[in-house]
Amino acid sequence: MSASTADSATPVLRLENVVKTFGDRVVLAGIDLTVDAHEVIALIGASGSGKSTLLRTINLLEQVDDGRVLLTGTDITDPRIDADAVRARFGTVFQHYNLFPHLTVLDNVTLALRHVHGVGKAAAAARGLELLDRVGLADFARSYPDRLSGGQQQRVAIVRALASGPEVLLLDEITSALDPELVGEVLELVRDLGASGTTILMATHEMAFARDVATRVVFLDAGVIREEGTPDQIFGAPRDPRTRAFLDRVT
Ligand code: ADP
Ligand code: MG
Repeated sequence: MSASTADSATPVLRLENVVKTFGDRVVLAGIDLTVDAHEVIALIGASGSGKSTLLRTINLLEQVDDGRVLLTGTDITDPRIDADAVRARFGTVFQHYNLFPHLTVLDNVTLALRHVHGVGKAAAAARGLELLDRVGLADFARSYPDRLSGGQQQRVAIVRALASGPEVLLLDEITSALDPELVGEVLELVRDLGASGTTILMATHEMAFARDVATRVVFLDAGVIREEGTPDQIFGAPRDPRTRAFLDRVT
């Protein structure tokens, strides 16, 4: 269901010198980052380093001050772009599961499919049920979100993000608001998605998970990518002193 027409060699995402300031504070100081199809990229870094701003810039919740973002070859930071249409090509999940409480699980999952992507009710429901079944939540299709645990709600939020076949999944600290015993089921789902080829860019503070599941780890420090590499390289043999200091604090 991907809207992509570019050939497979075109990166899914390409950030070129992305700069974002708030007032006189430089939060992203010239980010260059390429995400290829099927990569699972873990964005790590201290609180305040700019991870959320980077993700919000990519899905056009923030405007760049300089540089550009290409989504499968299209410059989405071009001011003439249709931002809603671009956002529909991303699947985004934030820290706080923001399901609509007055809609059933299935209606939450199919809402964008029906109203943004114009899929008919029956076809959207079939697609939604298939996805819920895949993550073991089909029995909750007619339930309201408050009947589900936090982990189940966050899995529904992931299913909702996947429903319209996004080109890339953007995940921002999606387990950090969960009770510890609920984190595993959510990370397990992300692991499965990565293994089945979903392109994922995720900000995370789950270092063991990043080491285990990411194909590449990117360390952000004060709005700068200090270091990136394979999980083994970043966690096993970090080259930059800032990376080492950060990992010493959090692992
Ligand atoms: P992280 O997700 O890595 O914790 P953020 O991207 O949330 O970092 O924040 C990076 C910096 O940008 C922080 O100093 C934060 O206070 C600042 N910031 C984020 N959003 C805004 C905003 N809307 N207005 C002003 N400052 C902001
Ligand atoms: Mg954040």
